[in-house]
Amino acid sequence: MDMQTNFLDRLFDAGLLIETGVDGLYGRSGEFEDVIAAFERLIDRFGGQDGAEAMRFPPGMNRAYFETSGYMKSFPQLAGTVHSFCGNDHDHMSLLKCMEVGEDWTKEQEATDIVLTPAACYPLYPTVARRGALPMTGKLFDLQSYCFRHEPSKDPARQQLFRMREYVCMGTEQHVTDFRQSWMDRGVEMMKLLGLTVEIDVANDPFFGRAGKMMANNQRDQNLKFELLIPITSVAKPTACMSFNYHQDAFGTKWGLNLEDGAVAHTACVGFGLERIALALFHTHGLSTSDWQEDIRKILWG
Ligand code: ATP
Ligand code: ZN
Repeated sequence: MDMQTNFLDRLFDAGLLIETGVDGLYGRSGEFEDVIAAFERLIDRFGGQDGAEAMRFPPGMNRAYFETSGYMKSFPQLAGTVHSFCGNDHDHMSLLKCMEVGEDWTKEQEATDIVLTPAACYPLYPTVARRGALPMTGKLFDLQSYCFRHEPSKDPARQQLFRMREYVCMGTEQHVTDFRQSWMDRGVEMMKLLGLTVEIDVANDPFFGRAGKMMANNQRDQNLKFELLIPITSVAKPTACMSFNYHQDAFGTKWGLNLEDGAVAHTACVGFGLERIALALFHTHGLSTSDWQEDIRKILWG
């Protein structure tokens, strides 16, 4: 049995994750949620004084915004759309018949106006664009959302529905690159405080297909994405638990985000993979929080 399946089974046995019959779709125990809540308070301790505006969106977003975002160009393999039954009595009868005889009943489902949110920051850009120009001093936002990605896996650190806490910064190039650097430093400091082994490395998004390879290389060459890696199921291949993304003015141009002087805003976002961080803690310190070292418990629970 490989390390990923082994760790997943141990998490099920300990009751921390709850099986649903679908890979990457799990319930969480109270103890697991308690770790995430405590870690989010630690994030607040580090970032709470920065004056970020908090917003919480549900895990679904406006399909029209999703289309504008260009997600289907880059990551069609990961997207999840919400479809519903929109038929009449007759259609209903045939749907039930299909179910009864074990035929595909989903074919007649129609796309709704909602798609599942792929990253916590996606609903933010059009929301901020509607408000008008951004101040020259920039703006900072604090987000958290369940996100969906169609990537079923036996690796407990690769889930289909998971939470991302994000800070998103909009402003001048200098402002947003300083923001990104400060969170790389803070991220390392936070993980070290928690007794986790960390490294930071340049990274790329999983762009789809042949054209995607070029986009991934380009992203790496320009140092646009960094990840903070922590061993969860492998020391040789540690898992990305945070990511630090600089979008240059790409999102500013796409969404019409401008500064007060008319220049296109630059943007950057910093994402915490909350389940992955909880899993890194359980992997490192053991499957029962009551057995964790006192100094680690103190940082999380005071
Ligand atoms: P990976 O390279 O592992 O697929 P990513 O580069 O696609 O991750 P981002 O798009 O940068 O990840 O997402 C931000 C953060 O969300 C990641 O750093 C990670 O901690 C977390 N994350 C991403 N995908 C998943 C997933 N499938 N399950 C759990 N957490 C995830
Ligand atoms: Zn983001």
